[in-house]
Amino acid sequence: MSSLKEKMYRFMQGRYGMDDLGRFSMIVILVLMVLSMIFQSGLMNLMVCAGLIYVYYRAFSRNISKRYGENQKFLAFRDNLRSRKTSTVRVFKCPTCGQKVRVPKGKGKISIHCPKCNTDFIKRT
Ligand SMILES: [Zn+2]
Repeated sequence: MSSLKEKMYRFMQGRYGMDDLGRFSMIVILVLMVLSMIFQSGLMNLMVCAGLIYVYYRAFSRNISKRYGENQKFLAFRDNLRSRKTSTVRVFKCPTCGQKVRVPKGKGKISIHCPKCNTDFIKRT
């Protein structure tokens, strides 16, 4: 092992390191970095800096149980979003009045009845 690697290893011992939340934050930061270069935005630059500080603060933190808890919250939030995407319900807007109507997914072409204005419209679910 090279001495630099050894030093790094010793430094990271007892510290939290990277997790899903950290990796996700890094992706967001990279996207912000590119956007801030395109738009020459000082505010985005600041957000990139703050984001990097946040990610490194978490990775080098010794409060592992607290960081672990944050990651669990993030995972629960992510799973919640995912299950919403794969939900069995589709929402259509009534073409007449704009009322949102929830119908079951995967039923093929069905006639949807708007409860607000009583219009029937056909949609593929
Ligand atoms: Zn309607």
